[in-house]
Amino acid sequence: MDALETFRQEVREWLEANCPESQRKPASREEQVWAGRNQTFPSADAKLWFERMRDKGWTVPDWPKEYGGGGLNDAEAKILKDEMKRLGCRTPLLDIGIWMLGPALLEYGNEAQKQEHIPKIARGEIRWCQGYSEPGAGSDLASLQCKAEDKGDHFLVNGTKIWTTNADKSDWIFCLVRTDPNVKKQEGISFLLIDMESEGVSASPIELISGESEFCQTFFDNVKVPKENLVGELNKGWSVAKALLKHERKLMSEQETPAGTQITPVQAALDYVGTDANGKVANAALRDQLVRHEMKYRALGLTHFRSFEEKMSGAGEGNIPMIMKYVGTECTKEREETLIAMLGTQGLGWEGEGFNQDETLATRGWLFSKALSIAGGSSEVQLNIIAKRVLGLPD
Ligand SMILES: Cc1cc2nc3c(=O)[nH]c(=O)nc-3n(C[C@H](O)[C@H](O)[C@H](O)COP(=O)(O)OP(=O)(O)OC[C@H]3O[C@@H](n4cnc5c(N)ncnc54)[C@H](O)[C@@H]3O)c2cc1C
Repeated sequence: MDALETFRQEVREWLEANCPESQRKPASREEQVWAGRNQTFPSADAKLWFERMRDKGWTVPDWPKEYGGGGLNDAEAKILKDEMKRLGCRTPLLDIGIWMLGPALLEYGNEAQKQEHIPKIARGEIRWCQGYSEPGAGSDLASLQCKAEDKGDHFLVNGTKIWTTNADKSDWIFCLVRTDPNVKKQEGISFLLIDMESEGVSASPIELISGESEFCQTFFDNVKVPKENLVGELNKGWSVAKALLKHERKLMSEQETPAGTQITPVQAALDYVGTDANGKVANAALRDQLVRHEMKYRALGLTHFRSFEEKMSGAGEGNIPMIMKYVGTECTKEREETLIAMLGTQGLGWEGEGFNQDETLATRGWLFSKALSIAGGSSEVQLNIIAKRVLGLPD
């Protein structure tokens, strides 16, 4: 047996022995475990699962061991991911620090910043949020105006950020700020880490049509930020910003089911549409929709696999990552749309009598999936990137 197969065997046995039974099915929103200074757990099993994974460094399996990670290489990390998926294990810890900031800090942070922040992210001690968008700067992010003035031993930050997911629940925020207004817009931006408890920071929840308030507008009113919280060089934050966006977009391209439902469109078709005398999905139009989607979904899975294999063989990732945010999120939206079509009336609500738990997750997932082609850069903007950087078309 080769080393990777031995590793797979060990991972499989460890997960079987250590993942509590209750943590082997998708988590509803209430059952998720988020990082935070005042971290809370929805159940004793969730806490146990988180602690076991944390102690192995598997909340961040491919980060270096010296910063609290698992030290796994790409192939090992993929095995762990595959084995967790096979058993249905929940992600033990959720945080933007894990998905976005950590990888960017490992690349651009200085040693003191890595020592200070990375282990805390790995252990789930700090919850992070992302301060990129502003009321006048979304797709055209480089137009941002929130400014940081150099005051000798600190920066003085003034301005506002918008659509800051969970800012009211987060401990720290990573922010893009304008540090030079007199140069080309991309060249006067810096990347700052700001403690949300600093004087002058406030977050105001934005109520959504669903009645929930996932987003906030975040305000900075004469906030003093120590100089050591600057990541990368002054006025060179755009490079850090782009590297971080790459991680965000990769993550989003691989997001399969936003709300964690386990029911697939095929299963939903069999359960809710039913089959004809030949064993086929009884409704021809729905069958057509289902088959078209399944072909696209499987092709996407194979493309992810090809991209991974190319990377492992040393051939590099080519252009695939650049198209995947667009293709992946559009495919996920289509999957949710197909699932809801198969569920029929069962897909029309998400609470109350007559709605099954798993299917109600599907309905929420369908609603949430609409945001996937906006967050992290809209589909139109991704198409512009593909046109320019992949196809080499003129502006
Ligand atoms: C679920 C979710 C979570 C988010 N979380 C965060 C967060 O935590 N932190 C944060 O900073 N931001 C966050 N955002 C904001 C997100 O980054 C922006 O919504 C996104 O970048 C689009 O910007 P905008 O909303 O200002 O839209 P706009 O830029 O105003 O775009 C409006 C429309 O115009 C189109 N458009 C714009 N420019 C072009 C162009 N050049 N060519 C063609 N079409 C164009 C867009 O595609 C879009 O359809 C989040 C958004 C969502 C949906």
